[in-house]
Amino acid sequence: MDEKMIRDTAHILVQKKPWIVLTGAGISTESGIPDFRSPGTGLWENVDPMEILSVRTLREDPRTFYRLGLSVLLRFRDAAPNLAHHILARWEREGLTNGVITQNIDDLHRRAGSKRVLEIHGHLRSFLCEQCGSDTPTTEVEKQVKSRVPPLCGCGGLLRPRVVLFGDMLPPVFQEAEELARCHPLMVIGSSLQVSPANFLPSLAPVLGVINREPTSFDQRAVFVLRQSAAETLTALDKFVKELV
Ligand code: NAD
Repeated sequence: MDEKMIRDTAHILVQKKPWIVLTGAGISTESGIPDFRSPGTGLWENVDPMEILSVRTLREDPRTFYRLGLSVLLRFRDAAPNLAHHILARWEREGLTNGVITQNIDDLHRRAGSKRVLEIHGHLRSFLCEQCGSDTPTTEVEKQVKSRVPPLCGCGGLLRPRVVLFGDMLPPVFQEAEELARCHPLMVIGSSLQVSPANFLPSLAPVLGVINREPTSFDQRAVFVLRQSAAETLTALDKFVKELV
């Protein structure tokens, strides 16, 4: 890792704080959850996430949705936060950041201790009844789908995951994310920035930084671009940030 580049970036982080962080699947690969796009990771080798995790499949082929799509999603729950999640949670307590907007549904930011987490693609902690609007814990739904698909609420309504499926409207929290992105510097971590409309947020931000293994289409606008592992990069940055504050 280029030490000068890390040192310069740490200076920018401290000078322009507080930052809002926008994370994607890449921050959780070091927790063992494959992203969608890195080749050879296996998670989506046999299924197309845009097809399986869609509103259309939920409605027209619930058996495939619950038996195939859901079982892949639920594998996320065994993962633990990695160093990158933990450092971000501490940066929030120390005032370097002012919250995380995440595209991830894995709950790892909250479990690492981050307080302000905007889950713009939802979460897997519970399922929503489409009829009465109540929540059912995911563990209960898992038990149901072993014998009955689709899972139903006590009122008879369909239970669906509280994740934003392909073809869904974005939740109201996205508006809050837009407002935050408009008035803070934005640090993108582990996102290809190919999924819309999350990839609209960097264009709103007054200042942009990118930490991602691969190039993104926003790199040219960024005041820093670091193309290494999120956990290693944040660990290296954290060392210099500590010296500066
Ligand atoms: P993406 O798969 O499109 O891109 C991930 C990016 O992260 C890639 O450009 C890759 O080079 C980079 N990356 C991978 N590992 C990295 C690491 N250790 N350090 C730094 N960079 C790394 O992910 P996306 O932009 O978030 O969009 C995909 C969609 O898939 C999102 O909507 C997200 O909700 C969903 N998803 C979520 C999870 C999760 O919750 N953990 C996992 C897979 C997909």
